[in-house]
Order: sequence, then C-alpha cells, then structure tokens
Amino acid sequence: MSTGDSTAAVHAGLPEPVPGQPFLPGPVFAAPYHLDPVTGPGENGYGRPDNPTRRALEAAIGRLEGGAVLAFASGQAAITGMLLTVLRPGDTVALPSDGYFTVRAFADGTLRDLGVKPLLVPTAGPYPSFAGVRLVLLETPANPGLDVCDIRAVADAAHAAGALVVVDNTTATPLGQRPLELGADVVVASGTKALTGHSDTLLGYVATNDADLLARLTSWRSQTGGVPGAFDAWLAHRSIGTLDLRLARQTANAAAVAELLAARPDVHGVRWPGRPDDPSYPVATAQMRRIPGIVSFDLGSAERVAGFLQASTLVFAATSFGGLHTTADRRAQWGDDTAPGFVRLSCGIEDTDDLLADLTAALDRA
Ligand SMILES: *Cc1c(COP(=O)(O)O)cnc(C)c1O
Repeated sequence: MSTGDSTAAVHAGLPEPVPGQPFLPGPVFAAPYHLDPVTGPGENGYGRPDNPTRRALEAAIGRLEGGAVLAFASGQAAITGMLLTVLRPGDTVALPSDGYFTVRAFADGTLRDLGVKPLLVPTAGPYPSFAGVRLVLLETPANPGLDVCDIRAVADAAHAAGALVVVDNTTATPLGQRPLELGADVVVASGTKALTGHSDTLLGYVATNDADLLARLTSWRSQTGGVPGAFDAWLAHRSIGTLDLRLARQTANAAAVAELLAARPDVHGVRWPGRPDDPSYPVATAQMRRIPGIVSFDLGSAERVAGFLQASTLVFAATSFGGLHTTADRRAQWGDDTAPGFVRLSCGIEDTDDLLADLTAALDRA
C-alpha cells in the first residue's frame, strides 16, 4: 500500500495486531536463545546475527528507504563496514571532500594503509571521470557545508564506468530523499541524527536491493560484530513513529531561522538548501522531498560563537544534529577543516517564534 509519510512512519515495521499484545513489542534481550534439541538453530540462535527487535527496526527503516536494511551500532560502523566489504588493495574510492570528517579520516588512514586510493571530490562538483573508480560515495546534503549533488546524474556516470554508487542519507533521512529510487546501489546512514531524533541513541544502517551485496554485508556484520543492542534498536523504532512530525517542524524552523540570519549584516555565509538564493536550491528542490532542519553560517570568530551560545537560552552547545532540541556546533573545535566562526545549527521542534526571539536576542548580545 502506498501511503503518506506519517502513515508509513507510524506503521513501519510493526507486527500484525495480536489481541493482548503491544503495538511495538518490547526489546528482546538475549545472547543465546533456547534451541530445538532436534532441529538445532532456527530464526534466533545467537544474538550477534539474530535479534527480533533489530529485525523489526530494519523492516521499519527498509519500508522508508525502499530496500533491505541491516542495522549497525553506529553510522561509522555501517559506513566503514560497507567500504571494507567492497574495497580491495589497488582500488580507488571517490569520497566527498566536504563530507563527514570521520569518513575522510578513515579513508586517509585505514583505507590508504590497505592500499586503497581515496579520490576527494567536492559535493557540488565538478565530478571527475570515474574510469578506474571502484566505489563512489556521495553525501547529499553534505555535512556540514550543505552542498547538494544530483544523485541520478552522478549515478549514471559512475555506473557507466562500472562503479558502485553509495549515498550517505544521514542529513536528509529517508523521508527527505530515497537514493535507491534515484539510482544509488546502496544507502548508508547514521540513525543517530534526525532519524531517531532524541539525542539518546547511536545507530547506523545500510540499505540496498542488491541481494549479493546484502549477503556479503550480512556476513561482514556477523563476523565483525558491530550490531546495535536490543534496547537501542527498540528506542530507535519507537522514535521513528514521529519522524514526519519532527521533520516538519524542524524544516519550518530552519526556513524561518535562515531568513532571520540572512537578513542580519553580522551573520555571513548563511546556507540552507531551501532558500531560493542558496547555490544548492535548484538541485535540492528538484531531488529532495523535504529540506532538512540544518542551517550553517559564519559568525566570524570562535569568541563571537561562544558569546552567542552563552547568551542564548534555547540553543544548546552540542555536536550531532537532528534532535528535538535546537543545538549549535562550532565545527572547528573538533579539528574539522571549517572556519573558526563556522556554525552548524540544528533546528529542534521548539515553537518558531520562541526560537526566532531567542536567536535575535543572543546575536544582539554576542
Ligand atoms: C554523524 C554522521 C555519520 C556518523 O554516524 P555515527 O552514528 O556518529 O557513527 C556519518 N555520516 C554523516 C553524514 C553524519 O552526519
């Protein structure tokens, strides 16, 4: 059945109704399970490969992404697992030069040590020839700069060169875009951010419709063991029910905040792909189903960012993004290659007027 986003999010991955049972069964905590002494292992034998709470979460995310899903302990576990399943010595991997910092660090360290050559490409392009490239990883919108690329166009060029196309869908979430429908072979993502959205769970996943690759990834995960625990899987599944509602408010808040910031002479480089004069606007609005609640901008110096955060009562100083609470992160404090005054602001679900009043007062005081 094709449904709207909220219907899909609320019902995703739930079992058939059983009188006397909860809508979403509670977490199953098990390392080993009872075995049938005669027939041996069935669906559940041991907790590393098998857990029903995790399978329900995977079914939920799979419904939203439109593919089979494997959950991992974190986004990094999913992304590095995907890369190490496919890449071999001598391969070249194309990665976003402006994408998630830890993925680039992994490529520059572990992948290079294994004899894999990283080719860094800015998300906004221009894209090089993919001749000789084994895997193309895209991140769109890119975190934290918010550039966007045309997934279908890059996937067509990459496929023509025989490369596998993987899209990091963390920032958009599957309600923001469905890369598998746009030509990608694989989605990787952190569920830690807007997908679960309560700033209390680490989660990652891989989604694909390639059965052979899914089997190899399943072996990878069983053998390396980076699985989420049952309680985290359950919390994540419970949180996904409100994804559409949370994103709707976050997007509305980001639209208002981006307007406010862009009108201020003391704020520079405001980026939000939903603003008509943003460089990402044409591709983002053509490709995405909704624009995420993240706005980036520059306050000129680390001191001014600190003053702004101290003066604000609603904006929490914190990394990560996509949660219920509005947060701001000065990325350079993590050793990221952004400017000292660069801020990634993640709009929460507070009332828009409250947020605008708080931001205005805090910037005036900073
Ligand atoms: C946070 C993030 C990751 C890593 O996810 P974790 O759950 O923190 O391991 C990967 N990619 C992007 C785009 C992210 O924002």
